[in-house]
Amino acid sequence: LLLCYEPAKRLARLNIDLTTHLLGARMLFEILDRPATEADAPGTPELVVRGGAVAFDEVVFSYRESEPVLRGLSFIAEPGQTTALVGPSGGGKSTVMNLLERFYDVESGVITIDGQRIDTVTRRSLRQAIGFVSQDVFLFTGTVRENIAAGLPGATEEQIIAAARSAHAHDFIMGFEGGYDSRVGERGTQLSGGQRQRIAIARAFLKDAPILLLDEATAALDSESEAEVQKALQSLQTNRTTLVIAHRLQTVINADKICVIEKGRVVESGRHEELVAKRGRYFTFHQLQFAGQQERLSA
Ligand code: ADP
Ligand code: MG
Repeated sequence: LLLCYEPAKRLARLNIDLTTHLLGARMLFEILDRPATEADAPGTPELVVRGGAVAFDEVVFSYRESEPVLRGLSFIAEPGQTTALVGPSGGGKSTVMNLLERFYDVESGVITIDGQRIDTVTRRSLRQAIGFVSQDVFLFTGTVRENIAAGLPGATEEQIIAAARSAHAHDFIMGFEGGYDSRVGERGTQLSGGQRQRIAIARAFLKDAPILLLDEATAALDSESEAEVQKALQSLQTNRTTLVIAHRLQTVINADKICVIEKGRVVESGRHEELVAKRGRYFTFHQLQFAGQQERLSA
């Protein structure tokens, strides 16, 4: 994990086995926009995204032999809509995202985007179509500007500032003595969790990918930051197909569809009200996971 904190240029020179360093692989694509060690066969077509419909059909996958993680997992994420993935820890939610970005390949079953099997298009075109924001934001040693610009190599100053504004990051950045030239990362300006997340959101705005993967923060941010992050995320999701690993009650309530993932399968799906009324797996999980948040919301 030490690798993750290395300056990006140094990382680029390292010959890492990316298949065993998942975070490294994702980071290289997000930050450096360069292919991993796996090459596509010559003549492989590019993914063509229209609406951005994502479909998993009976996907089976394991990281290690004889330890199945996904056991015939199926769902459809409609174009432009938000699909929340919920369920107990270890159920396979993060794995769904890893497979969609093709950091691993399925054992059986099919994953498609707008009808194209993701294993038949170039990895680069696939990963260019997908933005990713999580609580473990990777910031490399460099300026705020460079960290945002990583979303779109060659971005203009205007584009970078527009993305930061959309991410509700511009004001706090301008509050730093060095503004966009402030250094972050090791020995740089210390950023709060909410600020780091908004830098990542700015990067995603700049990338402007039609499909968005969000892994919501589990730890609470300070309440002002939380509100800003939520506003930024909400506008980032507009007109993008979003898959969100949801830890907030508000997120599942607002989702167009909730998929409950348990032991590598989608065991229930629908909208919040439908699933509550059904009194099935979601209802039980919801009571355990979100009960405290419900009280806070209604307080
Ligand atoms: P969730 O996100 O729902 O908590 P994950 O997809 O992270 O679930 O994990 C599903 C299962 O796969 C867990 O048993 C986890 O320990 C295992 N797992 C996750 N990532 C790896 C990995 N890189 N190598 C081996 N096992 C993994
Ligand atoms: Mg996870």
